[in-house]
Amino acid sequence: MQQRAEQIRRPGKTIAFVPTMGYLHEGHLSLMKHGRKVADCLVASIFVNPAQFGPNEDLSVYPRNPERDMSLAENAGVDILFLPTAQDLYPEGFETYIIQENLPDHLCGLSRPGHFRGVMTIVAKLFNIVKPQVAIFGEKDFQQLAVIRKMTKDLNFDIRITGLPTVRESDGLAMSSRNKFLSQNDRKSALVLYECLTKARARVSRGETDAGEIIKTCETAINSKNDTDVDYIRICDPETLNDLQTIDKPAVMAMAVKVGGTRLIDNILLFPPGTEPG
Ligand code: AMP
Repeated sequence: MQQRAEQIRRPGKTIAFVPTMGYLHEGHLSLMKHGRKVADCLVASIFVNPAQFGPNEDLSVYPRNPERDMSLAENAGVDILFLPTAQDLYPEGFETYIIQENLPDHLCGLSRPGHFRGVMTIVAKLFNIVKPQVAIFGEKDFQQLAVIRKMTKDLNFDIRITGLPTVRESDGLAMSSRNKFLSQNDRKSALVLYECLTKARARVSRGETDAGEIIKTCETAINSKNDTDVDYIRICDPETLNDLQTIDKPAVMAMAVKVGGTRLIDNILLFPPGTEPG
């Protein structure tokens, strides 16, 4: 892959890169379709990265379907699909990891210790292998995008990071490879995440500023559904991810909820009156 990247870049061609863990859905494909438009060559990777899973998480059962992924990626315009093995990327004796001071100590980082260390390490490795000029990530993983933007800046990777909006099912559920684990009943309960987020957004746009009140309403709504277990619901500054008590500037509301044992995340931007973009 490194040699291919070198060959592409030598005559001045550009590379766009979409890293994924596979089991592709329309969310992944939207990143790929964007990548297709912004560079000469589009590289995507599929790698279920052991370093970002905790000991009791779903690494061993994470959904996989490489054949289907290959044809979906090809149809989305991917020129090179990079499918390394864990042995390729973490050979015996591997012992260098990337850490970051602040952003990982919020939201998902609190319930998944070491997760962002694993994410940053694999993304940095993939950046060095694929050598893209632009890399594309989803806003669905809001904290991940923030952590990667910061890592890219702090470590001087010469790569433009693009974040793209969350692609949803027609009823609002954020697309995720993990949705496969939801039973029919879980699938119904899971709708409450986006319902809460859109209601919160509407409340803030009408002038509600009390973050605690909004979070409380959401918690009650989520707890009223079958088989749900709130990990966190936070309203924070989109840059620092520090909690906001008063929503007097644009904020992000983010949540992680276990639905029937499957951990789902989602987020939305909140705009107090007069702060909407555009
Ligand atoms: P994953 O395979 O879950 O690691 O995701 C790979 C990339 O796709 C990450 O940048 C995710 O943020 C992005 N992604 C995942 N789900 C969605 C979605 N529903 N909409 C847009 N991007 C997504």
